[in-house]
Amino acid sequence: MKFLLKVCSVFLFFGITTFAQTTYIHAGHFIDVEKGKLLKEHTIIVEGTSIKRIKKGYTKIPSKANYIDLKSSTVMPGLFDMHVHLETETSKNGYIKRFTENDADVAFKAVKHAKITLEAGFTSVRDLGGSGVNTSLRDAINKGYVIGPHVYSAGKSIATTGGHADPTNGYRKELMGNPGPKQGVINSPEDARKAVRQRYKNGVDVIKITATGGVLSLAKNGQNPQFFNDELQAIVQTANDYGFLTAAHAHGDNGMQRAIKAGIKTIEHGTYMSEETMQLMKQYDAYLVLTITAGKSVAELAEIPNYYPEVVVPKAKAVGPQIQGTFAKAYKNGVNIAFGTDAGVFKHGDNAKEFTYMVEAGMPALEAIQSATIIAAKLLKVHSQLGSLTEGKQADIIAVPGNPLKNISLMEKVNFVMKGGKVYVKP
Ligand SMILES: [Zn+2]
Repeated sequence: MKFLLKVCSVFLFFGITTFAQTTYIHAGHFIDVEKGKLLKEHTIIVEGTSIKRIKKGYTKIPSKANYIDLKSSTVMPGLFDMHVHLETETSKNGYIKRFTENDADVAFKAVKHAKITLEAGFTSVRDLGGSGVNTSLRDAINKGYVIGPHVYSAGKSIATTGGHADPTNGYRKELMGNPGPKQGVINSPEDARKAVRQRYKNGVDVIKITATGGVLSLAKNGQNPQFFNDELQAIVQTANDYGFLTAAHAHGDNGMQRAIKAGIKTIEHGTYMSEETMQLMKQYDAYLVLTITAGKSVAELAEIPNYYPEVVVPKAKAVGPQIQGTFAKAYKNGVNIAFGTDAGVFKHGDNAKEFTYMVEAGMPALEAIQSATIIAAKLLKVHSQLGSLTEGKQADIIAVPGNPLKNISLMEKVNFVMKGGKVYVKP
């Protein structure tokens, strides 16, 4: 017994020494997202998984510490993308894959997408809909089995019969079946409660609904409202009971208004949002997640013959180009904005293109970066640990060469990624 204890304490000792590895980072520029400032020449000291100290100037490096030279880079907190789909990625005839791929096939691809996303500087993502593999992926990343960002998963999103995210849309009659709350299809407040509680049972973090028609579903209408008020209220009330953040996909204005009034916290896409709805967003303290990259991407892909099914093409051409204009108006009107891209609708890893589109539409670069860091972390209620470079917080740190506040496209050239004190991209 004594011997065993000794062996254990030796292991414990080594465990602790590896854990407490210290890394010194010299940051040429440093973005303080909480104060909204770009600072010069700082030293960030990372110990184990968290940020121990942040000091002005370049301090001397102790002989045993790791050193990372980012003197010609701008260092900032790891980025959040509030709207991704890690399970899938756009491809020609992609629709056939639901009939040919097993969950394991989906999972292996999701692992690849997760790694690419992390290496692009996104240390946290909200996965707004998949099959449930997304939730297992979150756990696998947390356990260290695979490499990827922190994932906040919606599992399978919730729709109404025939609505955007009804999983059997477009199937032939015998295959359509009658999906219910478990599969994420509801048609009453009772169904709505059951669907949310089922997701609690499945271990999700977020409730996602499809409040209006959508572009890529095999259905005609891309913007009609698809939930009644009582269904929306049942969703939000139940979600609140379990502490879930709520997100609603919405293109059309009417469905958006219903969702906001019911208390949905984030509106995804928001394509045809009217000025009246923008005021409503502010009144209800809701956040808009624009996904401009997805809009531009679907509009481009719709020009390739037979890339999308016939029913999707006119919707993609109409909705896609609208989103950036809506962003410009929403920003001018003071609507709360959180960064999100809908990655998966376009190639994973291209998430940072969104920054350029946001800045093009009138948002200052620093605010765009805040929307992808501290604002997103607060929405997810993880800001005590993530979302800014602050002593005591987890060491999720990235860098880009040069100054992204002068040239926002540098956000696409991330040259350093650390998550939880571990380096994934070396400068
Ligand atoms: Zn989406």
